[in-house]
Amino acid sequence: MAARKPLIAGNWKMHKTVAEAVDAIRNLAERIPGESKVEIMVAPPFTALAPAAEALKHTAIALGAQNIFWEDEGPYTGEISGPMLTSAGCSHVIIGHSERRQYFGETDETVNKRLRAAFRHGLIPVFCVGETEGEREAEKTFSVLDKQVANGLKDFVADDLKQLVLAYEPVWAIGTGKTATSEQAQEVHAFLRSLIEKKLGRGLAESLRILYGGSVKPGNAAELMGMPDLDGALVGGASLDAKTFSEIVLYDRSA
Ligand code: PEP
Repeated sequence: MAARKPLIAGNWKMHKTVAEAVDAIRNLAERIPGESKVEIMVAPPFTALAPAAEALKHTAIALGAQNIFWEDEGPYTGEISGPMLTSAGCSHVIIGHSERRQYFGETDETVNKRLRAAFRHGLIPVFCVGETEGEREAEKTFSVLDKQVANGLKDFVADDLKQLVLAYEPVWAIGTGKTATSEQAQEVHAFLRSLIEKKLGRGLAESLRILYGGSVKPGNAAELMGMPDLDGALVGGASLDAKTFSEIVLYDRSA
């Protein structure tokens, strides 16, 4: 089996104007060599996608969106569709981020529809799952993840999911400065991989990239990425500064 190429993805959330996004991309591209051992993706806000795509031309950095609606067009004020994202230059899309679940009523069922839309338009989905602090304390981590994965991937077969990227993001570690230890993260990633194997077969489980997200920084990236079932990172706060993000992308050189 070919080794899984790590993906380091930056989720800019609701940060950066068009000018700031373009500036950050130029700055990042200058710091990253053309050939990299990892895949790199940044997800600016929707307003900056098209100019970001322009700035990313001739770089090895891919462009992602932070959400996608399940219909292609229609009376859905405020939503963004697959054709809009691909025409703006996106190749990836983040789906089911805990902030969408927490503040915007995202459910496993809507996540499933959004995943379907992403695949329909050839976008690589980064499908986020994770438990809250209360769920972890109540020892429900594995059952919560099982449910999120089962419902999010409902009615998909392994063949549909070859491009899928899964992201484990413990909610208690997002934007809090609290990182899961590399052992805690590895334990969950191994569980997620075994879950995928049980539900969808060994081939997909072995090729599936599972990213870790939750206060990843230059100082902890190498240790986390050194774990056997961690295949990259989804980075929030530390992706906003080009120098800091580039240090995470180049984690294997600082190890
Ligand atoms: C995220 O929002 O996906 C995330 C991991 O945020 P942070 O890195 O800031 O914890």
